[in-house]
Amino acid sequence: MTMKAVVFPGDKRVEIREVPVPVPGSGEVLIKMKASAICRSDMSLYYGNPVVGGDAAKSGSIYPGHEPAGEVAQVGEGVTRFKPGDRVAVYLAVGCGECSHCKSGYRMFCKEWKCVGFDIHGGDADYLVVPEENCMRIPDEMSFLVAAVSTDAVGTLYHAQKRLNISGRDTLVIFGMGPMGGAGVMVAKGLGATVIAVDMLDERLEVAKELGADYVINGKENVLERIMEITGGRGADAAIDCSGSPHAQNTALNSLRPHGRAAFIGEGRELTINPSNQLIRKQITVMGSWYFPIFEYDEIARFIIERKLPVEKLVSHTFRLEEAATAFRMFDERLTEKAVFVWD
Ligand SMILES: [Zn+2]
Ligand SMILES: [Zn+2]
Repeated sequence: MTMKAVVFPGDKRVEIREVPVPVPGSGEVLIKMKASAICRSDMSLYYGNPVVGGDAAKSGSIYPGHEPAGEVAQVGEGVTRFKPGDRVAVYLAVGCGECSHCKSGYRMFCKEWKCVGFDIHGGDADYLVVPEENCMRIPDEMSFLVAAVSTDAVGTLYHAQKRLNISGRDTLVIFGMGPMGGAGVMVAKGLGATVIAVDMLDERLEVAKELGADYVINGKENVLERIMEITGGRGADAAIDCSGSPHAQNTALNSLRPHGRAAFIGEGRELTINPSNQLIRKQITVMGSWYFPIFEYDEIARFIIERKLPVEKLVSHTFRLEEAATAFRMFDERLTEKAVFVWD
């Protein structure tokens, strides 16, 4: 039996190959793909200089897609927790299974971790094989589309806000209203916070409002002044940067009240700060946050369902796998927000 799979030979080329359907080995599960979300980090593979992964990722022969969801089609020997027909999303980090990080659920900290869609084949193919322990059961009420987006985008922002202890007492500023920032707005509203959304694009600020943002600020305005106005001169209780821009990261720190807390999520290069004024004398807590531990997924899925997070609103485009070349080009040119491959 054969299937279609996407590969990136490099230099923005997209090929759809006809390849054999993989066979699940011992402890592995074959998933019939239903939804696979495109992420900004896929663009590094598309250009041919992956931000994650080792030699395999650089080979140009790995099927991308680290935000997959689908239906179990077949299980390998020894698989006990899943059976054909089960609906699952996939955790992107495959670890050694033995170290303290793997045992704690933070498999992306495993020294030997492999990233689905970078080091090993991902979900931009008709079928995907992953270890049983990377399958995360999804609630019946959750669509495959929402399940795919619930992993990286919503999961990352949920985990960060849990660590920041966001609640109804907080005014939270989120910088960067791409799919990550948008997911952040939804999660923050679900937690009861007052949300200020910042972006350079008015279209994205419109989406942020639809997702529940209480205030929006265009980055061309004096952002700090506006945040101070909104908070009655106190400053924000917390800030999250999803943009990775040094200017936004600095504004995030400057917008905080004493004892404020910040999380950096958007990847960036270098940042110059003034620790005395920006951190020390306000006793600011800054953390980096990346993805989520696998045990947290049940909580994330339940949160999405119970708080009725409008996750599908993050998705501006869906594509068939056959349209991969168009999908990645449009995503790269920022003609889409979250884009997702879907199957019947
Ligand atoms: Zn991603
Ligand atoms: Zn490990």
